[in-house]
Amino acid sequence: MDVREQLTSCTRLVAILGHPVRHSRSPALHNAAFAAQGLDMVYLAFDVPGEQLTAAVAGLKALGVVGANITVPHKETVVPLLDTLDSTAQKVGAVNTVVYRDGALVGYNTDVYGFLMALQRGWGRGPRDATCLVLGAGGAARAVVAGLLAENAAQVLVYNRTLARARDLCTAAAAWGTTPCRVVTDNDLPALADRVDLIVNCTAIGLEEGVKVSPVPVDILRGHHMVLDLVYGREPTTLLQAARQRGCTVMDGLEMLVQQAARAFEIWTDRAAPIELMRETVMSV
Ligand code: NAP
Repeated sequence: MDVREQLTSCTRLVAILGHPVRHSRSPALHNAAFAAQGLDMVYLAFDVPGEQLTAAVAGLKALGVVGANITVPHKETVVPLLDTLDSTAQKVGAVNTVVYRDGALVGYNTDVYGFLMALQRGWGRGPRDATCLVLGAGGAARAVVAGLLAENAAQVLVYNRTLARARDLCTAAAAWGTTPCRVVTDNDLPALADRVDLIVNCTAIGLEEGVKVSPVPVDILRGHHMVLDLVYGREPTTLLQAARQRGCTVMDGLEMLVQQAARAFEIWTDRAAPIELMRETVMSV
């Protein structure tokens, strides 16, 4: 049946706001979950450039949506536009899930949970005692670093194009746990490669299909590395292809997408998420 025939004048909206957003598999997985649970809800993607974010967030309230996901590049800039934050979003300073409850927009960060669950599944262990190289310093990187510190990683090394942003992240992380967190640059990488256990790509490199660039020089990859790329797409990213060739354990961002989405679903609906269905749906898109 055409899904549009099931929409009614009572159908409630969940939106995703991002720029770009056309690559997102979130509409497919959430619409499948809403349908499976018989919920009169629909999930739609909106490409919102930065200068329209304030108006778009005000629009969520004006329209009385159930909630929203916030994605690249708005996870940090959305924070001051919301009424309250849960403790994880407050700590991380980045929001990926919003619920509109009792007249207020409440921000959550389910990426921390999604990252840790995905890592456990892909690596068979958590980051405790691991030396971790985090590529990027945006909203996703903040969630990943918060997760690594919460689980007592041994050390976190942050590598980012814009050094000041990496420094800001390490400064913030000093309050999130006892794990040392420091900025590293190209010059540091060769000497660190052997000591690193886990590499997580939290940059947007790889998001644009057909662009063959790695966020880090691939000659630092070693066979003992676990490499998790938060980016997902039809093809493995250049980073994951190189990592696989060098014998690393690799995982793309689809499992984290599923896990963070399952938590968001629970926040919006107060129901357990049909996670197997969500996983099958994203894999088949
Ligand atoms: P963001 O806040 O906009 O941060 C983007 C990051 O990518 C920054 O560190 C930025 O560096 C870096 N970057 C962008 N273009 C670059 C380039 N050409 N060269 C070098 N660095 C570049 O975005 P975000 O929300 O953190 O998301 C980052 C990525 O993670 C996106 O691809 C997103 O799709 C993915 N993600 C996936 C999941 C999942 O569930 N799988 C969840 C969250 C995010 P500068 O600081 O120098 O600008």
